[in-house]
Amino acid sequence: MKGITVLGATGSIGVSTLDVLRLHPQAYRVVALTANRDVAGLLEQCREFSPQYAVMADPSAAQQLAEQVRAEGLNTEVLAGTEGLEKVATLPQTDYVMAAIVGAAGLLPTLAAARAGKRVLLANKEALVMSGHLFMQAVREHGAELLPIDSEHNAIFQCMPRDYRPGMEAKGVRRILLTGSGGPFRDTAVEQLASVTPEQAIAHPNWSMGRKISVDSATMMNKGLELIEACWLFDVGPDKVEIVVHKESVIHSMVDYLDGSVLAQLGNPDMRTPIAHALSWPQRIDSGVAALDMFSVGQLNFERPDLQRFPCLRLANEAIRAGGTASTILNAANEVAVEAFLEGRLGFTGIAQVIESCMQSIILVAADSIETILDADAHARQMAMACIDHPEQHRAT
Ligand code: NAD
Ligand code: MG
Repeated sequence: MKGITVLGATGSIGVSTLDVLRLHPQAYRVVALTANRDVAGLLEQCREFSPQYAVMADPSAAQQLAEQVRAEGLNTEVLAGTEGLEKVATLPQTDYVMAAIVGAAGLLPTLAAARAGKRVLLANKEALVMSGHLFMQAVREHGAELLPIDSEHNAIFQCMPRDYRPGMEAKGVRRILLTGSGGPFRDTAVEQLASVTPEQAIAHPNWSMGRKISVDSATMMNKGLELIEACWLFDVGPDKVEIVVHKESVIHSMVDYLDGSVLAQLGNPDMRTPIAHALSWPQRIDSGVAALDMFSVGQLNFERPDLQRFPCLRLANEAIRAGGTASTILNAANEVAVEAFLEGRLGFTGIAQVIESCMQSIILVAADSIETILDADAHARQMAMACIDHPEQHRAT
């Protein structure tokens, strides 16, 4: 029986995780569930899974949840804030931590889980993008097991030789082929991108996901963040990762070997597959996902990404090459810009412009401590807000 903490339990990944856990009550026990503000959602999950702890990041939401839990006589202790999140990520009775908080808010609890030597099921790619060096160091030093949930990285992990770290070349790997659907605007005329709406941007053709990652998929910043994520997870430079647009989202990524073999992982686009894989690795369990029907898939297509249409991809590439706090700045500026876009305060093409302005004007430093990373994150957020409020003063050149 493995004890599980689900960080971000009420989100898209969190709910899919609980769907898989529900199928295997003999193998996994839910120790803790967390959410930001969704009291009703977390309460419902507490009724079903009876976790020992429930954490709400928002203190007033935590108070409301605590009252409800008491009123219903549930056997769950309610905690609040980052402290509560870090506590449930490091409990001795927790073996596995699903890191499924969205954005920078997930960094500290996810890092805490790595430092506590847990099996970390990493969906929260932003944590790794912000602090790749520090995070991977924590994993190594504390003997944590890091299993990727992002479907592409999970696919790459499945196609890699068993002991690829460090130096996958020595194991015969030539490069990684990172696939992406191209999002909802793959074929939209470039002139029309400036006027697309949040509703259009979050309507992803193949995947059902949270709002932030859906917008990231529409700008292809998601693929940019995934490029950075792949470099850290698999210990390779960006030159060894090629992005391939594959609109069907049936192949979830590939590994190209020196002998000419290319291994791919395929499946229906459903996050329960990588979740079940990471939960049970190195075994396999049922995920509830239907078998892939190759006859109804019929065709698989591949294209080069269009950097003109998707400047965020170029920016992410520049950030990983620049090193230091560049990826932290990229991530923070993106989070602020995406939120502004979703609230109607910034146009779709403004997202890349805000990020580029921040990357041009903030001086990079070595990303060697959590304080430096959090400072760079805060600085980039301030700068991004200024770019959005006063675009005329902060144009990228
Ligand atoms: P979501 O918005 O659906 O859910 C986010 C979860 O995080 C919710 O439980 C929310 O309560 C919690 N949360 C939000 N802000 C918080 C804060 N400030 N403090 C604490 N908790 C907070 O997001 P999602 O789509 O499930 O994505 C979660 C993560 O997984 C992201 O990093 C995303 O990039 C990654 N991911 C998601 C998918 C997918 O299919 N949804 C695929 C690959 C990777
Ligand atoms: Mg992905």
